Amino acid sequence: MAQLRGVGIGLGVAHGPVARMAAPLPAPDDNPSAIGADEERARVQEALAAVARELEKRGEQAGGAAQEVLEAQAMMAEDPTLTNEVDASLAQGKTAERAVHEAFASFRAQLEAVGGYLGERAADLDDVAQRVIARLQGVAAPGVPDPGHPFVLVAKDLAPADTALLDLDRVLALVTTEGGPTSHTAILAREKGIVAVVGVAGAAELADDETVIVDAAAGAVTTEPSDDELTRAENRANARAAAAGAPITDGALADGTAVPLLANLGNPAGAAEAVALGAEGVGLFRTEFLFLSASSAPTVEQQRASYAELLAAFAGKKVVVRVLDAGADKPLPFLNDAHEENPALGLRGLRALRASEDILREQLTALAEADEQTRKAGSGADLWVMAPMVSTVDEAEYFTAIAREYGIRTAGVMVEVPSSALLAEHIFAHADFASIGTNDLTQYTLAADRLLGSVAGFQDPWHPAVLRLIREVGAAGARTGKPVGICGEAAADPLLAVVLVGLGATSLSMAPTALADVRATLLTYSLDDARRIAEAALAATDAATAREAAHAASDSQKERTQ
Ligand code: PEP
Ligand code: MG
Repeated sequence: MAQLRGVGIGLGVAHGPVARMAAPLPAPDDNPSAIGADEERARVQEALAAVARELEKRGEQAGGAAQEVLEAQAMMAEDPTLTNEVDASLAQGKTAERAVHEAFASFRAQLEAVGGYLGERAADLDDVAQRVIARLQGVAAPGVPDPGHPFVLVAKDLAPADTALLDLDRVLALVTTEGGPTSHTAILAREKGIVAVVGVAGAAELADDETVIVDAAAGAVTTEPSDDELTRAENRANARAAAAGAPITDGALADGTAVPLLANLGNPAGAAEAVALGAEGVGLFRTEFLFLSASSAPTVEQQRASYAELLAAFAGKKVVVRVLDAGADKPLPFLNDAHEENPALGLRGLRALRASEDILREQLTALAEADEQTRKAGSGADLWVMAPMVSTVDEAEYFTAIAREYGIRTAGVMVEVPSSALLAEHIFAHADFASIGTNDLTQYTLAADRLLGSVAGFQDPWHPAVLRLIREVGAAGARTGKPVGICGEAAADPLLAVVLVGLGATSLSMAPTALADVRATLLTYSLDDARRIAEAALAATDAATAREAAHAASDSQKERTQ
């Protein structure tokens, strides 16, 4: 057997035979047009419009996040900059196919140069180009294969149009050679709960029909698995299915210690599903997700409506809203439009809000109004508000003071930068609570851009340096009597969730689809066990040995209690 590494999305495991996505169409030849620019132009217009309508139709069928993505793709197909570029090539005597190919390639290069979130949209653009060229050539657009039995889909990077209508009874797992944790394959796999590992460079060598194990929790694809490995994978998949079917109870350890399990959300539309999956509230509402494509700041009115919808969906429960977190992977041009060499180290998070304080004040106004409005209507929640990317004690003081000006009763900060973790005790002199963002805390501790595939191996929250920083915050929270939540992806890894509680976390927030696994795992350990397992992980020197040490400590715990 051999293991191919990539970035796992979610915690699932699945196995089955590979079916590869058809190779993309080759670049059209650069022969001169035989029919003239006008006829070529008419062909292009027909093809672009037909592809745009087809994408919109798929979007309507799929709904949810997929619909937004497909509508954005439909808009790409009819983007005037692109059609102008196509026209210019046609005027030079090129064929429709070649002109479309060249225009999309140049558009792609521009997106890639911007990098980050926009860079990852390059794959969406490729898909539109392929569809238009296939239409012009009168051949089928490349798409998901149908081998006639359930399969592991292996592709370069799935296009939203493909993922949107995937037949989940047939597709056991997804493996892509490209794409990072924020690619559309990843976003949609997360939303639909599909087992997926993305950015697996070696997957290009996989052959149709060979059996593989796709392990998202480990970020690995195992080829030529042994019978033992297949049985273990099967058992894990069954345990997950059992956890998903277990009764929904409040998050707690085996000894009854309460560990509230909360949801990470980016849109009030996700609230109903989160409640159905047992979220006891919201631990992170990413407000910037509501306004990612906006070129101007959202109005107080727009914001109030969204926040009121969210609060009412969680009436009587805790709802932690994060003020706008602009920068790096989440560009908000109205907050920071400057070109920065290192945007992750730039004017982002609270820094950007402080530089545009009127936008922060408007957001706090909208939050306070939504709070009042829902309370009056009898559907109020317990609103907590926090600031992202706080890196100094002064920033903690600044944010909590300004939030209180607007009557926000519980104001806190995210701990995502090592400086804040190390000075947590002083931060708690101002903040009512802290919420640890392990995604950024890992990126800044290991100095590894969380969007870069080439350094993805460093982005591992099991690293003992990250765990030690979390311990600092947990201990400071315990000394000062302040809550310490976790809202990064780490909270969704069941055994790491136990470690985090052992380090002093008092609540855990995660994608709602992860709640069942974490709930089931917490119930098997006492607080003493959690502390012991955390100690084992803390003593390690790297992420892999920390993970192994925690597994070994938890296995010996299970043996003792059997
Ligand atoms: C984090 O950094 O862990 C976090 C929760 O914030 P985001 O992922 O939105 O940056
Ligand atoms: Mg963050």
